[in-house]
Amino acid sequence: MLDGSAVAAEIRESLRARIESFRVATSRTPMLGILLAGDDPGSALYVRNKMKMSEGLGMGTTLERLPDTASFDEAMSVVSRFNDDQQVDGILVQSPLPRGMGVDAEQKIFDAIDVKKDVDGFHPLNVGRLVQRRAPFAACTPSGVIELLDRSGIDIAGRQAVVIGRSDIVGKPMGMLLLHRHATVTICHSRTQNLAEVAASADILVAAIGRPAFVTAEFVKPGAVVVDVGTNALTERPMVELIFGADSKKMSAFEKRGQVWCGDVHPEVGRVAGAVTPVPGGVGPLTIAMLMSNTVTAAEIRCL
Ligand code: NAP
Repeated sequence: MLDGSAVAAEIRESLRARIESFRVATSRTPMLGILLAGDDPGSALYVRNKMKMSEGLGMGTTLERLPDTASFDEAMSVVSRFNDDQQVDGILVQSPLPRGMGVDAEQKIFDAIDVKKDVDGFHPLNVGRLVQRRAPFAACTPSGVIELLDRSGIDIAGRQAVVIGRSDIVGKPMGMLLLHRHATVTICHSRTQNLAEVAASADILVAAIGRPAFVTAEFVKPGAVVVDVGTNALTERPMVELIFGADSKKMSAFEKRGQVWCGDVHPEVGRVAGAVTPVPGGVGPLTIAMLMSNTVTAAEIRCL
């Protein structure tokens, strides 16, 4: 098991000295502005965790909440306030935005964030800079995966890397970061032919699909490193039993809570892979640690 929580703790510790130097130089701490719109319980939990983590590091957070009925213009005006606020160094717009804001609301909001405060790395200018390998920071989840591989002593250069998923927030930037680190990269998606066979060519396999336990042992070359980005909530007993077994720890957790988290990678992969990330406790904590790291970097670039 690759311990994402431990690596995330290391990353956070490494930020403390930079936060202190920033405070001495500017008489304030780096500040993250967060927009949380709607009442999705998952989003509220993610935001609480991000705020707790920021505050634990002595960083500032400012949270703007909007109701589910809020308009797109109201969300835009929060972003515009954060853009103008000299105390705000990084801006996080928690997705998903309420459906009523329109299908392309997220993209329009990301486009409106000041590029210097775009700590999620979703602004098209920062995406372009990432492609040209001159972005100050990249999307948090894929950056966290690279940190995990590096800090776990896993070589990337010269290896075959396969990423399943081509989203703008995970799959594509993941492929680009692995390419920059000299892996030979294949990005797969729902139209990929012979997916299991392509995946089984990987020394490093990253699953970012959003389908519980989709990646089974046949997708994995013996000894490969498997990074499971998927976070899927299982709420049906038969599904938990089918994936984890009736006598598993997950089943007991399900009995207590009525829900368990499951990655995109089937537990049987643990028998074939050289290393696997757990869910939870793998990529999730790294994503938050990289958000902190990107916010500190953004603050340093703007103010030092
Ligand atoms: P997404 O935007 O829905 O993208 C999913 C990708 O998977 C798409 O590219 C899709 O292909 C591909 N896909 C779907 N079904 C497939 C199939 N049967 N075979 C091959 N490819 C298939 O999802 P996302 O935002 O990238 O997130 C992926 C997962 O990661 C989700 O579970 C999400 O919750 C999780 N996540 C976790 C973190 C974290 O911090 N741990 C952060 C972000 C996301 P097409 O493009 O062809 O449709």
